[in-house]
Amino acid sequence: MALPEKFIEQMLRELGGKEGRALCEALDSPSPVSVRLNPAKAAAVEELPDLKGAGYVEWSRGGYYLGERPVFTLDPDFHAGAYYVQEASSQFVGHILGGVEMEGRRVLDMCAAPGGKTTLYASLVGEEGLVVANEIDRRRANVLADNVRKWGLGNVAVCSTRPDRFRDLEEWFDVVAVDAPCSGEGMFRKDEAARGEWSENNVKICAARQDEILREAWRTLRPGGVLIYSTCTFNRLEDEGTLERMLEWASDQMEAFDEVRTDPRWGIVSGRVGVFQTFHFYPHRACGEGFFAAVARKSGEFRPRRERKTKNERGVIAPVDRKSAGVLAEWVTEPERMRFVTIGDTCYGWFRAQADAVAMLSERVPVIYSGVAMGQIFKGRLKPDGALAFFVGLNRGAVSVAEVGEQEARAFLRRQDPGVELLQEGINLICCRGRALGFVKRIGARVNNLYPESLRIVNL
Ligand code: SAM
Repeated sequence: MALPEKFIEQMLRELGGKEGRALCEALDSPSPVSVRLNPAKAAAVEELPDLKGAGYVEWSRGGYYLGERPVFTLDPDFHAGAYYVQEASSQFVGHILGGVEMEGRRVLDMCAAPGGKTTLYASLVGEEGLVVANEIDRRRANVLADNVRKWGLGNVAVCSTRPDRFRDLEEWFDVVAVDAPCSGEGMFRKDEAARGEWSENNVKICAARQDEILREAWRTLRPGGVLIYSTCTFNRLEDEGTLERMLEWASDQMEAFDEVRTDPRWGIVSGRVGVFQTFHFYPHRACGEGFFAAVARKSGEFRPRRERKTKNERGVIAPVDRKSAGVLAEWVTEPERMRFVTIGDTCYGWFRAQADAVAMLSERVPVIYSGVAMGQIFKGRLKPDGALAFFVGLNRGAVSVAEVGEQEARAFLRRQDPGVELLQEGINLICCRGRALGFVKRIGARVNNLYPESLRIVNL
């Protein structure tokens, strides 16, 4: 499908004839394929045999371009959460935060599904930190939660609600990211359908929605905290225009963030809109899809928070009894750093550093997943949740480990049962290339595949 005529006119008008034409031509060229590694599961692309690395994404630690596009669903390491298939330009949000001490910080990712940036923030904040990943669309929020489980750090809470539901969490976050729903012009190359959905009217609708989301997001940012606004579109109305409209009501509470340096060879066009530093990724200049990002700070001194103890008014969270806590403690490498709770019939592990925060959050917004789902306890034994297999803090000493080849791994991911001869009696952790994929239970000659139905790969 050809590019929309009105879009071409818009780009020629906004960028000038030569730049606009170069951009439109680039949108008809092939997209680079890139991934970002999970540093807790893979240190270098060479550790992942299905990926043919073809160079670093210069602005992203752990970001690699691939020489060819593999069939990701065939790769066990993809299912083990060893990397995330993430477009190179959008990995730039990690570079923006590169100069900030992120360990232990609290991040709100307001528009988070499917989770590319959420997983990146989770790697930055570490076990002492917390990422609250929100997605308004429940179906997409479930996909986000699956990606969070696979990433396996146990430091993310996934919510599914409207941005205005965060009003109770005023000045609660150190970093707030709004990766806004937009008209998607930057996706015209990767996703032809985006061309058909584009219209001038939709650009206006998106711009109005972005204004609303930013208003809500802003309240949740603490003084001295960092706001990152981004879109995958090129037009002024949704990029610089949205920032200008925000400055009309917020400029007296804002200041510039520390200068983010870029190398001219990266081809990123950096600018300023008031206190915001801005970054445009045009596919004819930078090696990635169309992307726009901006950063600024909320003015004021950082006041350390005094966490209010939660009263658990909604009664969703129950403590686990001592005996169950003992059972759960055996399954993790650092039980002293975790708090165990029960939500519904499932036990969860939260890192202590953020446990009060997750409890408080759960009272205020609909949280659909948090920390690491450990599983259910029956008769003093844990039936582990699939998420626990992916958790980087899993104690492998608590379980029999069955290392399988690629064929068996794919069969397992289809929820077929691996051969009984590979397994010990009881719960087994299925690993391929040393990376965990999930659990099975063997009872004599019978095998029960515990891989979550929601993750099951049908066409493999
Ligand atoms: N940050 C994601 C990532 O890196 O994988 C991509 C987010 S995508 C650009 C924007 C998301 O905003 C979509 O998932 C969309 O469902 C969500 N969204 C749509 N309308 C919204 C609204 N009114 N408020 C908040 N989010 C909304």
